[in-house]
Amino acid sequence: MADYDIIVAGAGPAGLTSAIYSARAGKKVLVIEKMNPGGQIVYAPLVENYPGIPGMSGADFAEALVEQTLSFGVEFAYEEVFSVTPGNPIIVQTDLEERTCDALILAIGTEHRKLGLDKEEDLIGAGISYCAVCDGAFYSGKEVVVVGGGNTALQDAVFLSDICSRVTLVNRREQLRGDKVLVQKIEQRQNIEFLYPYTVKDLEETDGAVSGLVLEHSETGEEKVVKADGVFVAIGLKACSEPFENLGIFEEHGYILSDTEKRTSVEGIFAAGDCCDKKVRQLTTACGDGASAAVAACEYLDDLAV
Ligand code: NAP
Repeated sequence: MADYDIIVAGAGPAGLTSAIYSARAGKKVLVIEKMNPGGQIVYAPLVENYPGIPGMSGADFAEALVEQTLSFGVEFAYEEVFSVTPGNPIIVQTDLEERTCDALILAIGTEHRKLGLDKEEDLIGAGISYCAVCDGAFYSGKEVVVVGGGNTALQDAVFLSDICSRVTLVNRREQLRGDKVLVQKIEQRQNIEFLYPYTVKDLEETDGAVSGLVLEHSETGEEKVVKADGVFVAIGLKACSEPFENLGIFEEHGYILSDTEKRTSVEGIFAAGDCCDKKVRQLTTACGDGASAAVAACEYLDDLAV
């Protein structure tokens, strides 16, 4: 007999929704999380587009979700999944323990993409950040650059414009990818400047900290140096796929392929949330995926029991 009916890897909104649905269906559920529970939504200053919740911080939303999950008797383990061996039962090996389950839901989320510049890794915490909500306060009254043109970059620029003296948004194309409502918010801010189409070619460093960026015009190749005390990199996400690559369930960009019921091609393994190959990565769709994956996993378990 397996240790758990269902193990959920990842305690973001998708993972916790699937845990709630599974526990309410009477299953013994363990959620394994390598960081803090809540996932990326913890870093959202304001959640404005979740139906029924007109405005709440991401951190408050995550806290309520964790409480709700615990109230249904779901167990948590704060460990990192190292490998998964498919079969019946499925073996889940973490940095601390080996456990078995009959069904596994992968809600492993995504991690920040990096610019790939030489000094980038060395300057993390010394001017380079991937999280405006976490690090913005360190740049109070200073000049910062946000790189990217998606919703994260736009939201970060708005958030930082309340703290910093000047925010420059650098986008590699003329068109922004983010929502119109955020673009409109940015246009109303006096201390946000757009710079496009430019790519970041290099980072300038003074006394071990970022002091500026070298930008290259995407069309003409013209170079420009912009002074910056901090650089917030918001150029998207990639799935945290490494420990699961043996399963052969990832598409070319590292996202998990699953059907409409959130079943992967491996028996007993399901996927939910931002790690899935899909177009819309939002809180609402993460929760929807979590519900679908849990229902499919519970049906799978019920069929196994017959
Ligand atoms: P995203 O939507 O994938 O946007 C990434 C941005 O970074 C794009 O502008 C992209 O440019 C640019 N980029 C990518 N690689 C780059 C590089 N090497 N150098 C310079 N620029 C680069 O990522 P995201 O903004 O993190 O959003 C991720 C998902 O979360 C999206 O689905 C988004 O809608 C969602 N989200 C929603 C909200 C909200 O609803 N309020 C808030 C945050 C995030 P190109 O356009 O040229 O590719």
